[in-house]
Amino acid sequence: MSDFSVATSDVLVIGGGLIGLSIAWHLADYGIHATVLERGSIGSGASGAATGLLAPVTASGRFGHMVDFGLESLRYYSDFLSILREETQLQIALQTEGLLRVAIDKGAESMLSKFDTWPHAKALEMVRLTASEALSIAPYLSPEVRGAVISPLERQINPRTLLACLQKSCLMRGITILENTKVLSIGVSRGSDSKRATTVHTENGNYSVGALVIATGAWSADLGKSLGYPLPISPNKGQVLTALPATTPHNVRFTVYANHSYIIPGEDNALILGSASANCGFDARPTLKGITDIVASTAQMMPGILDAELQHTWCGLRPATPDYFPILGRLQMCQNVFVATGHYKNGILLTPITGKVIASEIISGDVSPLITNYRPDRFSTSN
Ligand SMILES: Cc1cc2nc3c(=O)[nH]c(=O)nc-3n(C[C@H](O)[C@H](O)[C@H](O)COP(=O)(O)OP(=O)(O)OC[C@H]3O[C@@H](n4cnc5c(N)ncnc54)[C@H](O)[C@@H]3O)c2cc1C
Repeated sequence: MSDFSVATSDVLVIGGGLIGLSIAWHLADYGIHATVLERGSIGSGASGAATGLLAPVTASGRFGHMVDFGLESLRYYSDFLSILREETQLQIALQTEGLLRVAIDKGAESMLSKFDTWPHAKALEMVRLTASEALSIAPYLSPEVRGAVISPLERQINPRTLLACLQKSCLMRGITILENTKVLSIGVSRGSDSKRATTVHTENGNYSVGALVIATGAWSADLGKSLGYPLPISPNKGQVLTALPATTPHNVRFTVYANHSYIIPGEDNALILGSASANCGFDARPTLKGITDIVASTAQMMPGILDAELQHTWCGLRPATPDYFPILGRLQMCQNVFVATGHYKNGILLTPITGKVIASEIISGDVSPLITNYRPDRFSTSN
């Protein structure tokens, strides 16, 4: 058990993105009705800007523990959504056609040739396709494509629909959500060998703290400073655009992915194209460079995209850490403070599992084996 008592209303979650909401939502399973403090509106950070690939192998670009963590979240997604649907009566679906990873250059082709050694290929029922097999199921691909892997279990979700569902369900579960409530600083008291957060100071008044969760995405470093604790999070700008293809309805069935670029069949006949990535501080303006990069890389996979009509473009700030792994769990020097941030390009994928394991750690004190590589103290010099 935790060495502090968690009363039903004294857990504060700072940050109303998908990660903060998911933690508050899972805490309600233990009878805890948390309060979420959000400086703008729900989903105004990266969560509202994301494209929603749930692709632990294809999009994460890494193998190992991060893929295991992502796979666990992907497996849990259907149960999580069933409960949300049942509680809210809202429609929310996973895009089910799967993902087609194509090789458009020699490097990618040689990566695909090692497909048999990919450790998670079997678990995800991935199948290697020749170029002509890929073109036969996706004739919209470039004839230059050198081969592909079809990954039928990797999926996509609309993050804005997920936000709406989760927000409604949180309210139905008795969670208080306070928007336009920016946390300015955190007050701490010092014991003999550790600190304890006592008060959260916001623009709209102060709140006393039983337990505190910092889930403030790309903006987490400032609250770390307020606690005297390093949270080395920096913003990574992601830009996406939507385009309306010349033919209606379009025939794009699969999400197509190559070299960190992708084309997702979206709603209302739109295609979602992403995503440019840049480290330029908190500047979240869409740029022409972002658009041209996305268009150039996606046109290599699907040349027909050049005839599509540009519809919208937008940006969001992904929370990045120095090792690109998230920061998850209790702070050793401040026993009633928990952190859940740094999800970088995988926060939508990791929303359900993060909520589940952090809520469980707050209540029981037990650390899930899934997150032992992501402890906050790996960046602490006093460690
Ligand atoms: C363009 C783009 C595409 C992406 N595509 C994918 C994808 O396909 N798949 C995937 O898994 N992930 C994707 N991501 C990443 C994903 O969006 C993030 O990892 C995830 O949304 C992080 O969620 P979060 O709740 O931690 O952060 P956020 O959603 O940024 O939420 C943090 C919240 O904290 C609030 N806040 C900050 N400071 C304070 C304060 N002092 N007081 C009160 N509130 C505060 C902010 O206003 C914000 O609402 C993408 C991101 C971008 C930008």
